[in-house]
Amino acid sequence: MSLQRIKNNNKNTILHYLYKVKGASKKDIAKNLKLSQSLLTKLSTELLNEKKIMYLEKKEEEIQRRGPKELLLGINPEYGYIIGVIINHIETTIILANPSFSVKEIYSFPTEKDWNLSLIKTKENIDNILKKNSLDKNNLLGIGITLKGLTDGISSLYGIWKEPVNIFDFFSKYYRVKIIIENGIRANAILEKILFDSNDFIFIKYFEAGIGGALVKNSHLLYGENNLMLDFGHMIMNPDLEKCSLCQKNGCLESIISIEKIKKYAQNLYGRKLELYEIMQKFNAEDGKIEYFIKDIAKTFSIALINALSIIDVKKVKLSGEIFKSLKFQNQTIFFLEKMSNFKEYRELEFLIEEENFIPAIALIVENFMFYKED
Ligand SMILES: [Zn+2]
Repeated sequence: MSLQRIKNNNKNTILHYLYKVKGASKKDIAKNLKLSQSLLTKLSTELLNEKKIMYLEKKEEEIQRRGPKELLLGINPEYGYIIGVIINHIETTIILANPSFSVKEIYSFPTEKDWNLSLIKTKENIDNILKKNSLDKNNLLGIGITLKGLTDGISSLYGIWKEPVNIFDFFSKYYRVKIIIENGIRANAILEKILFDSNDFIFIKYFEAGIGGALVKNSHLLYGENNLMLDFGHMIMNPDLEKCSLCQKNGCLESIISIEKIKKYAQNLYGRKLELYEIMQKFNAEDGKIEYFIKDIAKTFSIALINALSIIDVKKVKLSGEIFKSLKFQNQTIFFLEKMSNFKEYRELEFLIEEENFIPAIALIVENFMFYKED
């Protein structure tokens, strides 16, 4: 490994740590990352000069009183502004945020069935947000776009509109900044990598927009030759059922246990529309009507997870999505995983309760600009 590479790795580790803890003194950083004080001083001075980090308390008298070593260092929120665009088949959301992930503006509107109309509306709303905040579109750090469904980083291939749509070309006509397009779940895995500096894990998200997975190996997000790596929601669970309109397979996981399906079932059962949290409240309260159905959902999900892990051997498994806010659903999932396999022996399971649906779009740009790439 070259010296430059080692240095960049160390700087990345410091950045990851500051993203995780929000702010820390040089002493704490050195201790927690096992770096010598002198090395840390050198690296943090470089990061300060590059304006990637800053002292969180800027008052002169504080610096004089406590000395610079005791001051907290943190990610510099003024490094630049980032636009995030989150598109699924129902809704488009635009956010304005800074590199420390604080959101300044958020605006949502229905996604149009006509893709051209939808993208024009998106562009107009981005411009409105920039204008409102007196920002020049060419002074943005970048635009991170997350999509539901399949993308090759240029186009939405399926999942939002009826046909493939070249999103990259559309936006690069208007904005001369870095534009990064990614599937929402993969972007979420990138966010997870930034916040927790995890090198190897699988990330699965089970939420309103669908069920998907991402695989991070040696700090790299893996794509596969068709961008379909860990296409978790679309493995066949029951071949006797209908073809899924997205993956063209019969009875895939998403087509059986999507949140939409759960809501439909509950509506039939209770005679009115219920939100997921209301359904889970009934499940938590051991409402017999829904209990068996949700338990079966946990079972089906667990079968899919065990099967995925029999092909992809990774220790750390991160599960995310509103449905896991129910401790009972978590426990039910663990119960089936352990009952049907030797899960505990090989895997480490983590539930991510804070559901991040918008920030991952910002994480795409943060990863690109705040962290050092391998040479
Ligand atoms: Zn499918």
